[in-house]
Amino acid sequence: MREYLSNIYTGLMTVFIGMKITLQHVFTKSVTIQYPDVRVPMVDRVRNRLYVNMDDCIGCDQCARACPVDCITIETVKSLPGEDLGKTSNGKKKALWVTKFDIDIAKCCYCQLCVFPCPTECIYMTDTYEFSEYNRQNLIYNYSTLSPEEAEQKVINFQKFEEEKKAAKAAADAAAAAAKAKEGEAK
Ligand code: SF4
Ligand code: SF4
Repeated sequence: MREYLSNIYTGLMTVFIGMKITLQHVFTKSVTIQYPDVRVPMVDRVRNRLYVNMDDCIGCDQCARACPVDCITIETVKSLPGEDLGKTSNGKKKALWVTKFDIDIAKCCYCQLCVFPCPTECIYMTDTYEFSEYNRQNLIYNYSTLSPEEAEQKVINFQKFEEEKKAAKAAADAAAAAAKAKEGEAK
């Protein structure tokens, strides 16, 4: 009988202690947040997803060369005489078509080493930290403002220009050589 009553007492005390703890937590300030409805504010200078403002990119490749994991791929084509690519917001004249500017963010280690050498400050880290993807390919960000067809056309245009320049130089050299030979004959 004594053991029976003791078990009832223990049971009631256990429920009472449990309810006391529960009640205490009802009035205690929560340490968790209701993510994603509520978000932790990011600190200044946070290093999350990279962004490139292509309006200011001059295609100098310095960011790609600074990257320790080679996750930036840049390809450029020289502009042709007469083509005006405009200027960056800090007044630098643009002379290259940026036909490819890819960042494989899956490889990025967020070191920010690409940001410091940029002469136009157009590559920087943002506070965006939610960019998970099901397909890894989607983590390669393409920043070039040219479509693949336009990029290909820029390459073709430049090759054509170079060939024409070479042909013109060869013709000028041949004409000069012929004139020199004629001059020699006249003497
Ligand atoms: S943050 Fe670092 S790893 Fe990422 S692209 Fe820039 S240099 Fe490369
Ligand atoms: S360093 Fe800046 S300007 Fe040069 S290619 Fe990279 S993003 Fe463009």
